[in-house]
Amino acid sequence: MQMILFNSFKKHNELYKKQILDSIERVFDSQWYVLGKEVENFEASYSKLTGVKNTIGVASGLDALIIALKALEIGPNNEVIVPSNTYIATWLAVSSVGAKIVSVEPNPKTFNICPSLIEKAITKNTKVIMPVHLYGQSCDMDAIMNIAKKNNLFVVEDNAQSQLGTWNGKYTGSFGDINATSFYPTKNLGAIGEAGAITTNSIAHKEFALTYRNYGSKQKYINNIKGVNSRIDELQAGILNVKLKYLKEFTEERKKIAARYNSNLEDIKEIDLPYVSPEADHVYHLYVIKTSKREELVKFLLKNDIQTEIHYPIPPHLQKAYSELGYKKGDFPIVENLSETCISLPLYPGLTFEEVDLVCDHIKKFYE
Ligand SMILES: *Cc1c(COP(=O)(O)O)cnc(C)c1O
Repeated sequence: MQMILFNSFKKHNELYKKQILDSIERVFDSQWYVLGKEVENFEASYSKLTGVKNTIGVASGLDALIIALKALEIGPNNEVIVPSNTYIATWLAVSSVGAKIVSVEPNPKTFNICPSLIEKAITKNTKVIMPVHLYGQSCDMDAIMNIAKKNNLFVVEDNAQSQLGTWNGKYTGSFGDINATSFYPTKNLGAIGEAGAITTNSIAHKEFALTYRNYGSKQKYINNIKGVNSRIDELQAGILNVKLKYLKEFTEERKKIAARYNSNLEDIKEIDLPYVSPEADHVYHLYVIKTSKREELVKFLLKNDIQTEIHYPIPPHLQKAYSELGYKKGDFPIVENLSETCISLPLYPGLTFEEVDLVCDHIKKFYE
């Protein structure tokens, strides 16, 4: 038996290799390489698929988050509520516009930002709530949108991990004022390189993002605002146009793999399986379990040729990059505990049930 990799593109790449190579050739021959027809098509198709009025392609997920905050004129003196439990990009977006990070702990069951703790963190300087639909499960968007409305706050969803995830049947990335997603290769919808997008129902925010991503210019050599270069290229958009057609099917496949893990592992008392809110349709960007014997289990699995990962081993508040905030161990105990006990098991389209069963057999053996 070969090594079971944490992630692999191999099997499903074969499915659309020809189509992707054709799209690369088409872009090459078109002689138009940045912000063209492929980008426009992708933006329209992604909007249609995810129930949002406008999609604006940008260079990365981090840029999409930053541009969303810029569109809302967030800067110094503003506070932005972010999860303590997230990939550091969410925090980096807030610090790069100069705003203050206000970290809020997750609900220990879902690992997603806890609405009642959001309410407690609001001050007169709070402007934005940034929920992250972590691992592919939607945050409690009813509660979050209500809190935002009541307190006159903006919502910016970080939807990098939850494309096609829903809350009460509505797609993540379509709730907030202006939202961000990422097409980093390992995301549920991945490019072959860097790309991201903003999604918004607001025409004003759409216009801002279209202008800001292109040096602050909508019309060549006319610059109305000081923008950046965060354009998306035609090659990545063309590739995304091919892969978008498979997103629903691959999402179903992720869910079936997760269900297989659930049924195989449900009897092991020593591990906590992912808890899914009844309102959420979890799209399993990651399948994260919790165990107090994390290091031993990781080693045991690796010895048996099974790769796992940890998302995330050091929470943002304990990273050296944020030492200026003066946080120490113990300040956010829920995320700290998670960072010491969670393991992500292999889950990707193309992973077979035989491989899932093998992973589970080894986990069972470990606990026997
Ligand atoms: C991947 C990711 C990002 C950043 O996306 P990039 O395209 O890598 O810049 C932001 N937030 C979360 C939660 C992510 O997982």
